[in-house]
Amino acid sequence: MFVGHYAVGFLLKKKFNEIPLWVFFIAVQFVDILAFSLVLLGVEKMSYNPTDNPFLRTSKDYVPFTHSLSSSLIIAFIILLVIWKLKNKTWGIALSIGVVSHWFIDFIAHTPDMPLLFNSYKVGLGLWNYPWIAFSLEIGFFLGAGYYLYRDAENLKRPIILIALLVLLYTPTMFAPEGEMPVAVFSIVSLSLYFIFAALAWWTERKQN
Ligand SMILES: [Zn+2]
Repeated sequence: MFVGHYAVGFLLKKKFNEIPLWVFFIAVQFVDILAFSLVLLGVEKMSYNPTDNPFLRTSKDYVPFTHSLSSSLIIAFIILLVIWKLKNKTWGIALSIGVVSHWFIDFIAHTPDMPLLFNSYKVGLGLWNYPWIAFSLEIGFFLGAGYYLYRDAENLKRPIILIALLVLLYTPTMFAPEGEMPVAVFSIVSLSLYFIFAALAWWTERKQN
């Protein structure tokens, strides 16, 4: 999933209001940020898979360090300790929930390519096998979480722009024609989007004078 991860970011922001939204936007995609960085370094492996289904075009061939449940828990635990030390306990708990949420959201969507233990016992509920259902549920989850977070907000202009931009940028991937995109390019595009969306979240909460 893509914007589905940000829906979790919205829910966490509602619960832990003192933490900036952009921090959650990084936390919920932290595992992917690591994964694409490791792909660029040649440590983890993804490849192009020719298929009509837009969600299944990037196979995660070897992602034991980021997309296994075991690694997700270890990464989240390290984040808990580091952020607890650098900031405080609440931040540590909130961000580690964000980090570990990524695995569970991916687990719902992915076909069985998510290892439980490093590179073994791969699982995935495979919602992506039904692209339109997956897409509708994901957008619904994202909009629902956005509404839940912002329903009492005084100034809705920037939140609406944020939510609309994410939906607008995500939707074309559903209609992208089949065609090989080199994994390095896909990784760089994905990494750029994660940072652009974090910057947008920062802008959404920036004080307006
Ligand atoms: Zn992922």
